[in-house]
Amino acid sequence: MRDAQLHEILKQTFGHSEFRFDQHEIINSILDGVDSLAIMPTGGGKSVCYQVPALYSKGITLVVSPLISLMQDQVINLKENGVEACFLNSSQDMNERREAEEKIQSGSVKLVYVSPEGLLSGSLGRFLEGLEISLIAIDEAHCVSQWGHEFRPDYTKLGQLKDLFPNVPILALTATADAKTREDIAHQLRMKNPKIYVSSFDRPNIKYSITDRKNDMIQLDRFISENHEGDTGIVYCLSRKKVEKIATELCALGYKAMPYHAGLSSDKRTQVQEAFNKDEGIIIVATIAFGMGIDRPDVRFVAHLDLPKSIESYYQETGRAGRDGKPSSAWMTYGLQDVIKLSQMLENTDAGEDYKKVARYKLDSMLSLCETGQCRRKTLLSYFEEESGDCQNCDACLEPGEVWDAMVDAQKVLSVIYKTGQVFGAGHIMDVLRKSKNAKIIERGHDKLSVYGIGAEKSKNHWNVVLRQLLNMKYIAIKNWEYRSLCLTPKSGELLKGEVSFMMKETKEVKVVQKRAAKTIDATHGRLDLFEDLRIVRRDLAEEKNVPPYVIFGDKTLHDMCQLLPRDYSEFLMVNGVGQSKCDNYGDAFIETIKEYVSQA
Ligand code: ADP
Ligand code: ZN
Repeated sequence: MRDAQLHEILKQTFGHSEFRFDQHEIINSILDGVDSLAIMPTGGGKSVCYQVPALYSKGITLVVSPLISLMQDQVINLKENGVEACFLNSSQDMNERREAEEKIQSGSVKLVYVSPEGLLSGSLGRFLEGLEISLIAIDEAHCVSQWGHEFRPDYTKLGQLKDLFPNVPILALTATADAKTREDIAHQLRMKNPKIYVSSFDRPNIKYSITDRKNDMIQLDRFISENHEGDTGIVYCLSRKKVEKIATELCALGYKAMPYHAGLSSDKRTQVQEAFNKDEGIIIVATIAFGMGIDRPDVRFVAHLDLPKSIESYYQETGRAGRDGKPSSAWMTYGLQDVIKLSQMLENTDAGEDYKKVARYKLDSMLSLCETGQCRRKTLLSYFEEESGDCQNCDACLEPGEVWDAMVDAQKVLSVIYKTGQVFGAGHIMDVLRKSKNAKIIERGHDKLSVYGIGAEKSKNHWNVVLRQLLNMKYIAIKNWEYRSLCLTPKSGELLKGEVSFMMKETKEVKVVQKRAAKTIDATHGRLDLFEDLRIVRRDLAEEKNVPPYVIFGDKTLHDMCQLLPRDYSEFLMVNGVGQSKCDNYGDAFIETIKEYVSQA
């Protein structure tokens, strides 16, 4: 009985015919009054886990969400599906606030979004205590844990929710949390015997590749033009300066690119965010400040020009690609300097040793993902304790580089570090190896050393990779963080004596040109012209309502229309992503276009 009603809500309101991953189990668990923790990959459909029970239950569902933009997006989306929802946050003035409160009190609102800091402020707390709350959902729940990768102090107070609402079940949701973080989330939120659901972390439609940095701008241009011409994407960089530079250069090359970082005015940031939501083929170059709150489903690529500091971050950032399930890329270049810079940032924080230990472990895991010759997906999934076979959709699977014995080169580097006194950084070591006539070399008499020029026949880039791998495998270490000077380690001896092997991967640029046009023809079932017409209908409706096009319908829904060619309401309701409300509001416009197409064909 309950199951039938839940399915009915899913289909009627959200237009989906089946639950996916653990959605159904999670919803049942929470409706049984059991505290639950849901780990589901980005794009997996976390919102359904609390929106469906919200509609099923009598009272109000409270949703704790960390960002105002996220709340706004969710409320708009719900309204499009015919669900009354609102938020209470600091962006509202007195009148807006009062209006929202009155609506909530009248009983017409099913979901109320609040921020963690707002929730526990006295006045909102009192207001909520007077209402019938049936469920509390906590989105981005990893923010509650210091073990997570985006700890937010405001979240720690959420444990008090159990005092305020002792009988209301809590559902915590996040896309990324390893076993330790999961435990900590349950503990911090004082969940009672929680049920934990972990859905697969696999995002089979994302193709992962990680490549050595040579010239990142040239590499990026090549990657986009060969694989993603005209597609929407995000390019992540570590610093604001680099963001500005890359955005400018992309524009000069004819791409539609915009910079985004925390240094821009809030007006400017809103403007970029809006352009990103609405424009086709736009590329946002951003620091990680651009992230949470991105709901756009058709981001076709995420490129990293700098190394993220953990696999969680990498997974979350790359997860913004392809939420609609269509082929997408996660592409990254990285080099020796990333490793040095990130380690240095880590060591120089004021945080305690415990924190640093965790952070080091996370960075090391990220580095092994980069250095591995194994399937990237397998490595990524095993970090989240999931097993899988080789994926045939990553650079390691598609174009396995030759592995060769680089022992002699490794020994050359160690010798130079040793002979120059273990006080110099990577640049100087490479200068000695490559027989540079740099003034610093001559001054110190390093041109007289026996090791001077022993690596002259190989490129700077080659030595960069050898150094990076030595550092990552702890055969060398950074001795002084200020000067970034390199030294030998207790492990170096094994390598110098030739007791262990030192293999290197030959790296090649992966070239898998996805024929964009061919792909689209396929997805539209040969009805590309109909798809283009439907897109125009969607764009006009979006402009009229002043919302992003995907809020009306995603590409997947348009593709489905191309296949099914619905010609009346009942057929239109069979299209994936069409619920009753959208059918009522938009059915006519799309059906008319489809009929016209059919009569001409
Ligand atoms: P996230 O887990 O990242 O919060 P969302 O809740 O935003 O994901 O959902 C991502 C996409 O998946 C949305 O476009 C949503 O409509 C779609 N979706 C969610 N549940 C289902 C389902 N059961 N069947 C088909 N599509 C679904
Ligand atoms: Zn693979």
